[in-house]
Amino acid sequence: MAEHYKPTKYKAWEMTIEERFSEYHAPFSEREAMLEANRCLYCHDAPCMVACPTHIDIPTFIKKISTGNVKGSAKTILESNILGATCARVCPVEVLCEGDCVLQGDHKPIAIGRLQRYATDYASERGIKFFKAGEPNGKKVAVVGSGPAGLSCAGELAKLGFEVTVFEKQKWAGGLSTYGIVVFREPVEISLAEVKAIEELGVTVKTGVEIGKDIKFEDLLNDYDAVFIGVGLGKVPPMEVPGEKLEGVVDGLDFIAQTKTEPLDSIKHGNRICVIGAGNTAIDCATIARRLGAERVTMIYRRSEAEMPAYHFEYQFALGEGVSFMFLTQPIEVVGENGKVTGLKCVRMDLGAPDASGRRSPVPVPDSELIVPCDMVISAIGQIKPFSFMEALTSLGLKNVKGYIKVDPETNKTDHPKIFAGGDCVRSHGEASTVMAVQDGKIAAKGIYQHLLGRTPASVAAASKK
Ligand SMILES: Cc1cc2nc3c(=O)[nH]c(=O)nc-3n(C[C@H](O)[C@H](O)[C@H](O)COP(=O)(O)OP(=O)(O)OC[C@H]3O[C@@H](n4cnc5c(N)ncnc54)[C@H](O)[C@@H]3O)c2cc1C
Ligand code: SF4
Repeated sequence: MAEHYKPTKYKAWEMTIEERFSEYHAPFSEREAMLEANRCLYCHDAPCMVACPTHIDIPTFIKKISTGNVKGSAKTILESNILGATCARVCPVEVLCEGDCVLQGDHKPIAIGRLQRYATDYASERGIKFFKAGEPNGKKVAVVGSGPAGLSCAGELAKLGFEVTVFEKQKWAGGLSTYGIVVFREPVEISLAEVKAIEELGVTVKTGVEIGKDIKFEDLLNDYDAVFIGVGLGKVPPMEVPGEKLEGVVDGLDFIAQTKTEPLDSIKHGNRICVIGAGNTAIDCATIARRLGAERVTMIYRRSEAEMPAYHFEYQFALGEGVSFMFLTQPIEVVGENGKVTGLKCVRMDLGAPDASGRRSPVPVPDSELIVPCDMVISAIGQIKPFSFMEALTSLGLKNVKGYIKVDPETNKTDHPKIFAGGDCVRSHGEASTVMAVQDGKIAAKGIYQHLLGRTPASVAAASKK
């Protein structure tokens, strides 16, 4: 709405398209890193460590930076989180580690994410390797999906001596870190460098292989001692409104993937764009559209500002990018001429009684239809749940919670004795994030070790207790 519109902070006309899509935060210089690290109080029982889902020993890694031991700092980080370079960039630190920093409030919290990036980039740029494959234990594990959950599980298993093969249906490995997270937050190279580091531990990564299509799930169960499922979620579901097949209606995930895999100046986009949804993916689509040069980008959401699922800081970021918002507005039809989008027909909503989720349900306001003129509609209304797109799951006897794979939280084991799972495909409640997927992969690696070898690995046990 007009009252939300603020002049954009980013002045597109002053930046090249490459600059608009380069990393949003500049890396810390050595001096900046030192100054920031020296602000840390190195709390005993540091709350930031508890808030980090992978329980990185944050005071220790920051202390090491402050004493000039940047290599040691990177080792501390990667021991707990093998995808530490990705997490340093993508973690919603405001609600995780930095959100619990004791300097929050009267002072500024320590920039934990940026310090983590400083240390992990230091090691990666110098080709420093900290880990090697463990003594072979004779067991083989298949990992389905090469997102953060699959890679984390594969890396931890390789360190424990398993022979691991990762199957990935896409051309490149890395999951949403490669294809989904906006390029100005995480460039593709960072994700691919982590894939390479996992491969250097002896893990075989087979891309362009879809389990269930190219190889039967049952064959994996016959050929491997255990299988880890880290398939994430599916595509954006259909909006189920007339006109959604018109030219100019696009899937939000495909739109983001284009900006990660294709030359930026070759990407076709509209000039007046409606983005449907108000989660973090929708915000990403909207900010990308602005940075590609769209003049007007409007996010359409059927509930109010208070109910929007995106993080507050993401919302503020979008406002700063000049994105406008229409709350309490429900799309009911994509309208077009000559097969192309010309507008989005919507109806205004009121909030009624709370629904099963506890949120007040939107109810249409009679005679309130309106058309928002636009030449592109981006749908970012969520992702399809695993039980809706992986047919094998039910036939293998796996159970589900609201369409997500059911696992035991202590081991990430499913109801099938040989199958473990983790990441977005098991996240039936709460926020899904990269760092949680990494932690699931660690827990499953420990679970697989216990299941196949009958004991707890010392290193994994210590890490998970921290
Ligand atoms: C647009 C977007 C932006 C996001 N931004 C952030 C962010 O800034 N910070 C953050 O912390 N989180 C963010 N997230 C969430 C985060 O990306 C996910 O929580 C995380 O990637 C989950 O990891 P995963 O391994 O479970 O799944 P994914 O990353 O989805 O990886 C699953 C992989 O499995 C593969 N696969 C699926 N089926 C098969 C099959 N049958 N055979 C072989 N391979 C298969 C897929 O191709 C994919 O590569 C974002 C998500 C989206 C959609
Ligand atoms: S992994 Fe994420 S949550 Fe954990 S310390 Fe690093 S930036 Fe913070």
